[in-house]
Amino acid sequence: MHIKEGDLVEVTAGDDRGTRAKALKVDRQAGKVIIEGVNRVYKHVRRSQRNPQGGRLSKEMPIQLSNVLLVCSSCGASTRTGSRHLDDGSKERYCKKCGAGMGQIAPPRARYAKTS
Ligand SMILES: [Zn+2]
Repeated sequence: MHIKEGDLVEVTAGDDRGTRAKALKVDRQAGKVIIEGVNRVYKHVRRSQRNPQGGRLSKEMPIQLSNVLLVCSSCGASTRTGSRHLDDGSKERYCKKCGAGMGQIAPPRARYAKTS
């Protein structure tokens, strides 16, 4: 999983290709992500107690994670991510373009710690 909630991401396919925005929600099970302002659809709602006017409601729908790249906070490029172990045994993801680390993705484990 290369995207976390709150990440700045770039959409690489579909109507919103090229858009950069924040990932609002990641569904690991379905492999989908909801991105702010991306894949907006109008949901038509009937008149009801909660919504006495009825009408159209604009909301974002989830898109496939594979159509989304992480934007590197260090070099600014949209990039694939790799993962690597740090000296303390924790795992982080990193930018494949510039090599900058982009946050821990697993807690330290002694097994992977560098002892020297
Ligand atoms: Zn980078």
